[in-house]
Amino acid sequence: METFPNELRLGDVVDDYCIKCKRITNHSIVSIVNGEVAKVRCRSCYHDHNYLKAQIPPSKKDLKKQELFNAVLSSVDSAAPGVQAEEAAAAETAKKKKK
Ligand SMILES: [Zn+2]
Repeated sequence: METFPNELRLGDVVDDYCIKCKRITNHSIVSIVNGEVAKVRCRSCYHDHNYLKAQIPPSKKDLKKQELFNAVLSSVDSAAPGVQAEEAAAAETAKKKKK
């Protein structure tokens, strides 16, 4: 039987971040979609969840920080001079040149 060296199979053990254990634990693969691990089950607490590729999801605190950051960014974009303002100015100049 031919197999790819990296081919993953149901029941294989992979490292992933368990939301319940709040740490990287051993997980069994329970679902594979298009050759990619879709769902895994924590071997410590048997919690099933989507495979996170061992990426620790951002905490709610981090998400809130990100939200604030984005809000600041968008206000900066519209008000303060920056790269985008410079680009707009360049576009304006280009427009004038065309005329
Ligand atoms: Zn767990």
